[in-house]
Amino acid sequence: MSMNIEEYVQNEIEYSLKHLGDEKVRHAIKVGSDIRGYISEFLRGKGYIEIPPVIISPLTDPLNHPVYDPKISAYGGDLWLTKSMIFHKQIAVQSLKKIFIMSPNIRLEVEEKSKTGRHLYEFTQVDIEALEKTREEMMDLAEDLIIYTIKKIKENDADELKFFKRSLPDFKKPFRKITYMEAEKKYGKDFERELSMESKEPVWLIDIPLEAREFYDREYDDKPGILRDMDLIWPEGYQEASSGGEREYELPRIIERIHKKGQTEEQFKWFIELARHGIKMSAGFGIGIERFTRYVCGLERIEDTNPFPKVPGKVSL
Ligand code: AMP
Ligand code: MG
Repeated sequence: MSMNIEEYVQNEIEYSLKHLGDEKVRHAIKVGSDIRGYISEFLRGKGYIEIPPVIISPLTDPLNHPVYDPKISAYGGDLWLTKSMIFHKQIAVQSLKKIFIMSPNIRLEVEEKSKTGRHLYEFTQVDIEALEKTREEMMDLAEDLIIYTIKKIKENDADELKFFKRSLPDFKKPFRKITYMEAEKKYGKDFERELSMESKEPVWLIDIPLEAREFYDREYDDKPGILRDMDLIWPEGYQEASSGGEREYELPRIIERIHKKGQTEEQFKWFIELARHGIKMSAGFGIGIERFTRYVCGLERIEDTNPFPKVPGKVSL
């Protein structure tokens, strides 16, 4: 920070007031609010129960990319801010069977990520999990969820779509699928971007290699090194909408996978202890609300979807 702190705060507050007063931001926030509402309505209609978010815990997602991890020491233990509720949802679903959470995630991403227009360091994902369901069943649910939400937006947010000069297509099920390896072969290193740029409809990227993901996604029994997981890619260059998959639930496999990722059992002792009690298979996915809103509104920058956007690298209100 080159300017002094008082100047910085003055500038930021000025920016914040301008941002909140921007017509584009106000319309995008309305669309985001409706997206949350329609997704909740859809999931409740399918028998999913909303559980409250966990914000702080000794256990959170390791993620497959580095972020700064602020540790809070209290009550004789260490606590972290939630990066995703992956473990909590896997635990809660054992008794509740079908759940979702409007889950605030804190991921202190590197400053570079501010350039993508897709990254905030505080965002919300709808995190969904169901007991004894397969990846394919969850992909089917995700397709219905997206089709339902976009249909509702088109019916009820016509003024906003007009403001953004946005006409959204009616997507048809099933969405196209491509494996990670096929995509890499066809489009090269930047395959996610290329795939998204050339598509007019959402596309599933499936069968992701073990090294590219965290330890908790389930490996195929008959395809070692390949996971039973999936990403959904928004069309028109908007890139990743969602990630999900079937979960690893067998203790020896969990331990083996933790080691393969170079992580320690100590780091995941809470989860290991739980798995020792026995957990059943589950599957699920998470969809970023701000990215969904960005796609619907056709926005260049994700911060326009949020009243108090946290852009990586910057202290903001
Ligand atoms: P992940 O499990 O890491 O794929 O995160 C779940 C979903 O949350 C992603 O598919 C995105 O839609 C969204 N998401 C992840 N990271 C961010 C971020 N830094 N900013 C905004 N949305 C994000
Ligand atoms: Mg992802």
